[in-house]
Amino acid sequence: MDLELTDEHRLLEQSVREWTARDVAPRIHDLDREHRFDRNILPQMASLGLLGICIPAEYGGAGMDYIALGLASEELEYVDTSLRVILSVHVGLNSLTLLAWGTEDQKQRYLIPQSQGTKIASYGLTEPAAGSDVRGIQTTATRKGDRWILNGEKTWISLADVADQFIVFAWTHEEKKRRRDPSGISAFVVERGYHGFSSGTLKEKWGILAGNTGFFKLDDVEVPEQNMLGRAGEGFKIAMFALDQGRFTVAAGAAGLIRACRDAGVKYALDRKTFGVEIGQHQLVKEMIAQMESDYQAARLLWLRSGWLKNIGRRNTRETGLAKWFATVASERAAADCVQIHGANGYSDEYPAGRFYRNCKGAVIYEGTREIHKLMQADYALGYRVDRPSRCELPPYVATRKT
Ligand SMILES: Cc1cc2nc3c(=O)[nH]c(=O)nc-3n(C[C@H](O)[C@H](O)[C@H](O)COP(=O)(O)OP(=O)(O)OC[C@H]3O[C@@H](n4cnc5c(N)ncnc54)[C@H](O)[C@@H]3O)c2cc1C
Repeated sequence: MDLELTDEHRLLEQSVREWTARDVAPRIHDLDREHRFDRNILPQMASLGLLGICIPAEYGGAGMDYIALGLASEELEYVDTSLRVILSVHVGLNSLTLLAWGTEDQKQRYLIPQSQGTKIASYGLTEPAAGSDVRGIQTTATRKGDRWILNGEKTWISLADVADQFIVFAWTHEEKKRRRDPSGISAFVVERGYHGFSSGTLKEKWGILAGNTGFFKLDDVEVPEQNMLGRAGEGFKIAMFALDQGRFTVAAGAAGLIRACRDAGVKYALDRKTFGVEIGQHQLVKEMIAQMESDYQAARLLWLRSGWLKNIGRRNTRETGLAKWFATVASERAAADCVQIHGANGYSDEYPAGRFYRNCKGAVIYEGTREIHKLMQADYALGYRVDRPSRCELPPYVATRKT
């Protein structure tokens, strides 16, 4: 295993860092305060190749590897979580799922425009009465000739009011729904423009305020048969597959957030004086900085391992889950300490610490809560949980992906 980044990785890291520092960082405080999602960020991300970063060139992507996806996630969340969320849902949860499970026709119609950034994509699993308990979803798809009729409501969906197309999960088997047998769930690609689709933004959200999070409703939405993703009954597996990729971006993003907390904490500790010395001289402040440093390094190594496993085509559900769990919990610790180092100033939006604190919490909840990940890791260790091969897997990275 080689932990050295390639020149291409470094170039990517540098270009995302420069773009966010120049074009986003100066405005993020205001966007956050105004609860405003800036759509102009999307074409900028597209022009940097980020919206198709690890998608092969034949499907309109930049053809980079999965480490590149992690690096971009880390750099984006260093500036603001809302930026990384775009990558998580668009590439992590949606495009990589189309790449692995989509038909050639679906890749042509949906994946290519997504990679090029002309269409934005998201993922609709959660419902008002079902988050961790995926089998509790109520959305149904009923067959009618060569179409499926979808009815239901999804909530807490990132980019709900922004995305053009969604992967949506619904029961296609009534009896299995009653028995909560997940082999009765199927996945569909649903376009915003379909008759009966409507969406809205959640107004009371208190974190990731520069991001869009909302709900959508499906009221007798007719979805053509060729938009079923995978086979009938594979929806649950597809949903879990997507989370393996989404969690990877969340893990790398949380590492970026820890680094942002460390850098802001160090800057303040070198500047603020109490009792005649910089606060960085106090051992209890050093302890907080040291914890951020070790958490950052460990979080980064964990997502790098997960990206490496993806590159070589090895199953990584366990490792990616661990990386996501560790990094998000550590980011909550780092953000709390970042506020603490800033004293009363940390309690004000004049400094970024408060935004970091609000933003970090979402990731401890979405893509598997802290508790669900804890249970998963215990179950792996105890031998209660074993990952079985799936009909479709994430394609390994091959350098020839580029043209
Ligand atoms: C900002 C944000 C963005 C999101 N974006 C998306 C998106 O794009 N697409 C999407 O589909 N969803 C999205 N979600 C939803 C997210 O995935 C769910 O909120 C998450 O899965 C948790 O579900 P829940 O909120 O229903 O909590 P619940 O499942 O109701 O859990 C409530 C509490 O009970 C605990 N709990 C539940 N079951 C168990 C158990 N068996 N053992 C121990 N504890 C348990 C949980 O850990 C939690 O603490 C988003 C959420 C947020 C906050």
